Amino acid sequence: MEMKYPFQLPPLPYAYGALSPDIGERTLCFHHDKHFQTYVDNLNTALSDCPEYQSRPLEELLRRLDRLPDPKRTAIRSNGGGVYNHFLYFAGMCPCCSARPSGILAQAMDRDFGSFENWRLEMRAAALGQFGSGYAWLVSEPSGRLSVMKLPNQDCPLSMGLWPLLCLDVWEHAYYLDYQNRRADYVDNWFHRINWHFAQERYEGCGA
Ligand code: MN
Repeated sequence: MEMKYPFQLPPLPYAYGALSPDIGERTLCFHHDKHFQTYVDNLNTALSDCPEYQSRPLEELLRRLDRLPDPKRTAIRSNGGGVYNHFLYFAGMCPCCSARPSGILAQAMDRDFGSFENWRLEMRAAALGQFGSGYAWLVSEPSGRLSVMKLPNQDCPLSMGLWPLLCLDVWEHAYYLDYQNRRADYVDNWFHRINWHFAQERYEGCGA
């Protein structure tokens, strides 16, 4: 993904009602059109007076947060992460209900988690164990080794030298209209909507 300043809201890659009832139309409208748009706007504002960073792809900015001056580092960590993470979250879902990965990603998941079911349990535990706002992540190390992690707020695994394949947004704005306080039900239903084709392409593209 080549995302550069001035950033634009990527279109939702399916209809607003396409993930219903797991994630409802109203949730997707607010989450994509309002929350995601706000991160895009705030990232553009943060970069508007930094011409030296405007030509850099978002992935590069997030990988090298430590080289950015304060307070731009904080603004780009939050809003650049907000843009990148939301892109991954929405692209990582689909209406198709393909239940499992295949190919080299499936083999790597068996190797590194023991089984697909073990991965699902680890991902679920990360999503439920993230206190407050954040994400659960399926990531690849540069070697191709897979792991699951949870990160707060809009922190992005790119900033830790990891390549994210999938993310599960557990901010309340991602599920409150459909599930209120029942994060576990939202998490369980998210597994039905994973775009495994997207995750496989990310894995194959990571150099593993
Ligand atoms: Mn979100």
